[in-house]
Amino acid sequence: MAIVDAAASLFASAFGDGPDGVWSAPGRVNLIGEHTDYNGGLALPIALPQRTYAAVRLRDHGRLRAVSTSARGGIVEVALDDIEPGRPQGWAAYLAGVCWVLRQEGYAVPGLDIAIASDVPVGAGLSSSAALECALVAALSDLLGLDVLADDAGRARAAGWCQRAENEIAGAPTGGMDQAASMRATADHAILLDCRSGAVEQVPVDLSSHGLTLLVVDTRAEHALVDGQYAARRAACEDAASLLGVETLREVDPTDLDAALDRLPDDVSRARVRHVVTEIERVRTCVEALRRGDFDEVGRLFVASHTSLRDDYEVSCRELDLVVDTALHFGALGARMTGGGFGGSAIALVPADQAESIGGRIEAAFGAEGLTAPQPFAVTAGPPAGRDR
Ligand code: ADP
Ligand code: MG
Repeated sequence: MAIVDAAASLFASAFGDGPDGVWSAPGRVNLIGEHTDYNGGLALPIALPQRTYAAVRLRDHGRLRAVSTSARGGIVEVALDDIEPGRPQGWAAYLAGVCWVLRQEGYAVPGLDIAIASDVPVGAGLSSSAALECALVAALSDLLGLDVLADDAGRARAAGWCQRAENEIAGAPTGGMDQAASMRATADHAILLDCRSGAVEQVPVDLSSHGLTLLVVDTRAEHALVDGQYAARRAACEDAASLLGVETLREVDPTDLDAALDRLPDDVSRARVRHVVTEIERVRTCVEALRRGDFDEVGRLFVASHTSLRDDYEVSCRELDLVVDTALHFGALGARMTGGGFGGSAIALVPADQAESIGGRIEAAFGAEGLTAPQPFAVTAGPPAGRDR
């Protein structure tokens, strides 16, 4: 069954009638520009073809009722007035957060029934959480007449609401890249996202006419301490910025990086800053390479990014390194971890006719090391959040 139908039929079986419509939003994968968002830097995500579908009906019961094919426990129910930071707990917090933010913004939300179905891998660093929020905000844009889907300015506002939902109600201190990609990236393009200004530029990603494809590999690795490490990296960047007398590390002049590093107290903070500043430059260089179709250069930049994340930022792990090393060994033009690190997913730029065999090599490498089987799949840049029916 198509996933859009799965959402609609789950709605019917859970709530007894039909939805007002079905809306969907994509997961995302970041091509380059990692751990730059909270430093006011640049990132370059695409929307995935994998999407989360929300079948939604407005009600006047003053409650949020939600059910998902991917969540155990049946229907989650919470009164809209009871939503607050940390409440509800669990997966419905992302949906509740969107309702809460819209009410804070002064919009009346009368009550909602929602059924979710998705093919975005959950917890793989591909932003299933943002897909969930953005599918709902797309639905509410139409159902409440918010009209934020019509242009990029409206979509940027909606992305901001979804980020607040995730930060404030679900309690996940993420930057804004995930929601920006899901709301604002268009098919066959990446967005160059300026995390300082919020501006986006559409950058063509034309892999197929160059005989290439992007292989995403969900490592299935789960590591403890992820949240603590993320918070520690953010704090290190903030401390370094304040020592350097700048608001964010975006303000550090890349042509004068050595002078900035000399002013830092220790090797660890120098390494963290070096990653952020050089990574922002790699995003700029990658955009130029994409625009002129120089995919060898894109591949080299992926590798440089991975090396920097592994050695300077220290957020890679055995599984991510194994994907990258194996993909490069068997013919990828470039490969890197993507997302926050310590598990999640990696990407490899590969000849389209070798995507399957390289995926197989990666699976074999994981098998040989006794690791959980990874999930490789080839993707193209898909469309952003919108209405399906
Ligand atoms: P990622 O966004 O990288 O997939 P997160 O930890 O940020 O990982 O978000 C994953 C969480 O989002 C899940 O644990 C669940 O609470 C929620 N979630 C995402 N997609 C769904 C879905 N289709 N159904 C129910 N919950 C979902
Ligand atoms: Mg997430």
